[in-house]
Amino acid sequence: MTSTEGRRVLIVGAGLAGSLLAVFLARAGWSVRIVERRHDPRERRFAVGRSINLAISARGIHALRRAGLEEPVMRAALRMYGRMIHPRQGEPHLHPYSTDPTRGINSVSRSALNLALLDAAAAEARVEILFDRRCTVVDPSNGTAEFVVNESTTTESYAADLIIGADGAFSAVRGSLQRLDRFDFSQSYLTHGYKEMHIPAVQSGTNTPFAMLPSALHIWPRGASMMIALPNPDGSFTCTLFWPWEPNPAAPHVPSFATVRTAAEARAVFERDYPDALALMPTMSEDFERNPAGAMATMRCSPWSAGGRVTLIGDAAHAVVPFYGQGANASFEDCEALVDALAAHTSVADALVAYEHARKANSNAIADMALANFVDMRDHSAQPSYARKKKFGHFLHRVFGNALEPEYDLVSFSTVPYAEAQARGRRNVGFMQWCVAIPLAIAWSALYWGLQRNACESTAQSLLLVTIGLVVISTLLRRGCHQSRPRP
Ligand SMILES: Cc1cc2nc3c(=O)[nH]c(=O)nc-3n(C[C@H](O)[C@H](O)[C@H](O)COP(=O)(O)OP(=O)(O)OC[C@H]3O[C@@H](n4cnc5c(N)ncnc54)[C@H](O)[C@@H]3O)c2cc1C
Repeated sequence: MTSTEGRRVLIVGAGLAGSLLAVFLARAGWSVRIVERRHDPRERRFAVGRSINLAISARGIHALRRAGLEEPVMRAALRMYGRMIHPRQGEPHLHPYSTDPTRGINSVSRSALNLALLDAAAAEARVEILFDRRCTVVDPSNGTAEFVVNESTTTESYAADLIIGADGAFSAVRGSLQRLDRFDFSQSYLTHGYKEMHIPAVQSGTNTPFAMLPSALHIWPRGASMMIALPNPDGSFTCTLFWPWEPNPAAPHVPSFATVRTAAEARAVFERDYPDALALMPTMSEDFERNPAGAMATMRCSPWSAGGRVTLIGDAAHAVVPFYGQGANASFEDCEALVDALAAHTSVADALVAYEHARKANSNAIADMALANFVDMRDHSAQPSYARKKKFGHFLHRVFGNALEPEYDLVSFSTVPYAEAQARGRRNVGFMQWCVAIPLAIAWSALYWGLQRNACESTAQSLLLVTIGLVVISTLLRRGCHQSRPRP
């Protein structure tokens, strides 16, 4: 343990990760200064930002509990126990997230969450929060950061023993690190963008004031595009359209933000693709025209620290696409890992190395799983085989217990490191394939030897040839599908 009394930390960004980290560090004895680009959201009690609600699950709750914020944040949360799949035709059906019916992910207001974290940070005696200041550059060699005061040309410089970039996906702190030697950075934009839409509360119906079941995350999977909806405490739902940016000439029926521009064009797509949702969206046309389409990217970088005194956290270190609902959860886990590393090492530089070591492989794993989940949600979740696979996974979980806990449970309902969740998920899939392959092989062998014994050699030989042919064709087809699948 090291004494942190009198040590100064500068956190750039008072978003979700920055505010929570400030609480932890202040309680660990650091003098904390947070500097945020935006105006103080507490004045209007509303924090602007991307997406109106977020799914918070076990990892986020773990960190909130540690900060003493679980109760106030979760009090207003709505628990979603599964995915409600809305097919084009027919009734919606629910896929539970887990074998354990009490397990669910929680829809919380991003704004309320950010305000709760800011309030908690501001309540700490050792925390000072400055707003309306945009970080432009950080110098790891002397531990200083430059800021421009909004709507002026005034600049301010702050020095600290530790500078933390919690300034989101387009981090200025990371931008400064990128100018250093041997700093790796990659960003990969998704071919799809997102646009938020609205389903208001209703006066009547089975789920009043909700227009649909509030205890589920609603999905309209349409192959290359999809829409989802998360409930809000006021009875409304925030819907998010995920459409490709550009049209695909090979699939002209798939809507894209480039081709569907007007409210009338959007209405035609909604009538065809989301008819049940359209009936609940009186402001569909206005929402579509007014709300901007946002981009989503996966960003990775290395190393996460420089000069032994500057580091990155949250989206600044690893922006992931939102399809596993884990970006904020992972950022909260970062906060815990960083504060633990600082407590365990006498040197800040060593702590930063240990923090990165604890988190890097895990952030890569959730980035990959989030991309894979996008394909699952939009392409597979509507298929009956997907529901069967999920049910089989749940059955194995019930029979074998934690040894075969599904990847979704490990990611959303546990704090098992993401990389381990990914590896165990892959192992489960392998096991499921063997569970199907072994009985098939036994049945096949029995048939083959039965035919042989009954002097039907030619039929047995035909069976053998047909089987070999089917295995070769399906292997080639699988390989072809895999190679031609567009990277989301
Ligand atoms: C559509 C969508 C849906 C999502 N859904 C989920 C979900 O369901 N569950 C989940 O866990 N995650 C979700 N996420 C991801 C989640 O929003 C992010 O992972 C999370 O906000 C990261 O927190 P952060 O503090 O690192 O960054 P941010 O929340 O982006 O905060 C960064 C802060 O830094 C400030 N800032 C930026 N630049 C500067 C600068 N130069 N100087 C000073 N301040 C600066 C910003 O104003 C902001 O306050 C979603 C994201 C999107 C886009």
